[in-house]
Formats: sequence, structure tokens, C-alpha cells
Amino acid sequence: MYHVLLGDASFWDFLSGVDKDLADRARQQGCPCGGRLHCANYPRKPRGGCENLPESFGHRLSFCCERDGCRKRTTPPSVRFLGRKVYLGAVVVLVAAMRQGPSARRVRELSQLFGADRRTIARWRIFWREHFPQIPFWKVVRSRLVPKIDIADLPRALFEAFIHHHDSREDWKRLLEFLSPITITGGLGIKGNF
Ligand SMILES: [Zn+2]
Repeated sequence: MYHVLLGDASFWDFLSGVDKDLADRARQQGCPCGGRLHCANYPRKPRGGCENLPESFGHRLSFCCERDGCRKRTTPPSVRFLGRKVYLGAVVVLVAAMRQGPSARRVRELSQLFGADRRTIARWRIFWREHFPQIPFWKVVRSRLVPKIDIADLPRALFEAFIHHHDSREDWKRLLEFLSPITITGGLGIKGNF
């Protein structure tokens, strides 16, 4: 079952490593002004993961330009956090996907597994069905996906396009890396929580 992998601290450790690689790349590039980047992480209290989430989940990796007069922020894409959302990205995808299809899970069962209440899960479904298809990112990438994904089947179809073995970290990595452009400022193109 998918939630077994998500309940495994080493899976989240693995995703932390992916985020660190993404952050290292951003740091090497430096600020657009030519300045060097200093560490300036955002504190986070994510929900929906396993009981023993690694300490690295207490912050979202971010940088600040060292030059006076610039001090611009650079926040690299993340496979762990969807923007400012408190729930972990993998959980937002998985729970919404599990609510769809022939063997849809009941809200109560999902709430017990992931600690998200009915209203939160309803917001995620609205996000995938109504907001996500409007994001510029999705409009660009959807043509690259084979087979074509029907908006009505989001996020389940997206999930199935990437996750072939439910305990495969690499499959999860590919899915979350695919979605990571929406985790940076302006990437989501919408405001508010879901
Ligand atoms: Zn700068």
C-alpha cells in the first residue's frame, strides 16, 4: 500500500536528499545580480507524513543574496513542500488520488491515515480539479505526457502516469520532481491555502 511507504521515515529522508540537490544547484547558480547566496531557510511544521519525520522537515530550504541593496530571495523548487501548504506534497497528491476511481477510499479512512480533516481533503480535490488545470505550468507540460491526461481524472491519472510500483522511491521522485516547478514563488499562480 502507498501509505506504508509514506509512513517510512527513510522515504522522507530520501526526499530531503532530493531537495538538498535541488538547493545545491540553485546555490551554485547564485543570485541573478551576481551575488552569492546565503542560507535563509523558512521554518515549516508539515503535516501528513510519518510520526517520526526527519528533523530536516522543520524547514524549507531557501537562500538570500549577500549583497547589500539586493538581498533577493531564491527559494529552489521542492519535492517535499507544495508552496506554503502545511501538508506534504506527496500526501496532497496521494489522498486526492485515493478519493477517485472505482475503489475510492472514504474520507474517514483517509483522515485517519493522514490526519487531514474532511474540509482539507475537499479543498485538495478542488485544487486538482479546478485550480491545477489553470496553472501555466500545467498548460505547458500536459502536451508532453503520454498518454494524454484528462483533466477530470486529476490527480489520479497523473499519479498513475508516474507511480508504477507503489513502493518505488524513484517513481515518487519522478512525480514530485515533475510537480516541483509549481512549488516556487509564482509557480502555482494562485493564492491561498488548500
Ligand atoms: Zn543579488
